[in-house]
Amino acid sequence: MELEKVRHVLEKCARCGQCRARCPTIDANDEGVPGWEVFSPRGRMQVAKGLLEGVIRPTRAALDGLFTCFYCNQCVETCPSLANVTDVVIAARKHLVEGGCAPASILQAHETITGSKNMFGLDQDDRIELWSGDVSDLVEAHVGKHAPLLYFVGCQASFKGGLANIPVRMVQILDKLGEDFTLLGEDEVCCGNPMELTGGPDEGLKELAEANVNKIAELGVRRVIFTCPGCYRVFKEVYPRLLGKGLPFSCAMASEYLAEKIRSKDIDLKPIQLPGKVVYHDPCELGRHMGVYDEPREVLRAIPGVDLVEFKHNKEDCNCCGMGGGAAMYDAKVSDFQARAKASDIAEVDACSVITHCPACFQGIEKACGVLNARGAGVEVLDLVEVVARALGIE
Ligand code: SF4
Ligand code: SF4
Repeated sequence: MELEKVRHVLEKCARCGQCRARCPTIDANDEGVPGWEVFSPRGRMQVAKGLLEGVIRPTRAALDGLFTCFYCNQCVETCPSLANVTDVVIAARKHLVEGGCAPASILQAHETITGSKNMFGLDQDDRIELWSGDVSDLVEAHVGKHAPLLYFVGCQASFKGGLANIPVRMVQILDKLGEDFTLLGEDEVCCGNPMELTGGPDEGLKELAEANVNKIAELGVRRVIFTCPGCYRVFKEVYPRLLGKGLPFSCAMASEYLAEKIRSKDIDLKPIQLPGKVVYHDPCELGRHMGVYDEPREVLRAIPGVDLVEFKHNKEDCNCCGMGGGAAMYDAKVSDFQARAKASDIAEVDACSVITHCPACFQGIEKACGVLNARGAGVEVLDLVEVVARALGIE
């Protein structure tokens, strides 16, 4: 039983409530109740404990609390007892899925991913078509070839047209830097991140992991580059556990790869013009979960013309964009609530561009910028690879 595995974590909780201070969902409810316990880390711990002990039933309130967590890990950073609340949330979600009590939207998402091999239920044949557009010749020349380096695109960037610029710029950067690289194309399947976060079964996840890892290994790849922290975390942290062995290749976020190029002076970044200051938003899965804070900043600072400033809450303390943890799959209103909170952070720092390094964050920050731009602010969101592409003269 999943919750039994985290009993020791639940036992660490002293119910002190310190985690409540930084949890972004604590005030996010339709009733306008501030500090609602079931939407707090401590409340989620208590609900999980109650489910484990059989004294709480999976009521609507219990599901609301557990499935609206952003997996942002702010609570884990603040807990004096070192209780890993997010491990408990995922275990509780799994417990509910296994018990047939999970919300219908979540079960439907698992079915979609298992059936179509992507989180949107779209045709795998369109995995490249939907984003490659003007660079389709370049992409086709690389798909399925044997190469030491592979770019794993991910479902969001592959299928959500508004994010197409991320993979387009990434392949153009790799091409410009003269890399011998490959892509999986139609053989790329969902990394499994949305299933893992929402309590999906290990068998389904393992199937996805095997499909990706086997195909990548067949191409003789030694290193995989990501532009999605969700894919990156799952490959690096979850696949070895699921498969019971290490991966036959290393994994790097694009920023880690680009920072190496900067250090070895293998990249020539030209000055770019931006209308004002830029601020970097730390994606939760990249920062608090994977500890990657410095490389994206190193890359941005290496670009002449980039005036990088910081949010008041940055790095380990950066506020979530509201798109994490599969919460939006359960209740989009919670994400919208957080986008408004993030808009205040952006307004406070007075930047013209918010740079992020995650396709999900791109959408959350875009919503936040939308709130500000409706008031005439004129703030844009960019992915880190879009900024690097500009500095490489890629149009
Ligand atoms: S999870 Fe940690 S911070 Fe939150 S109530 Fe429990 S002991 Fe306190
Ligand atoms: S991961 Fe974030 S949203 Fe979830 S309980 Fe912790 S602080 Fe709250």
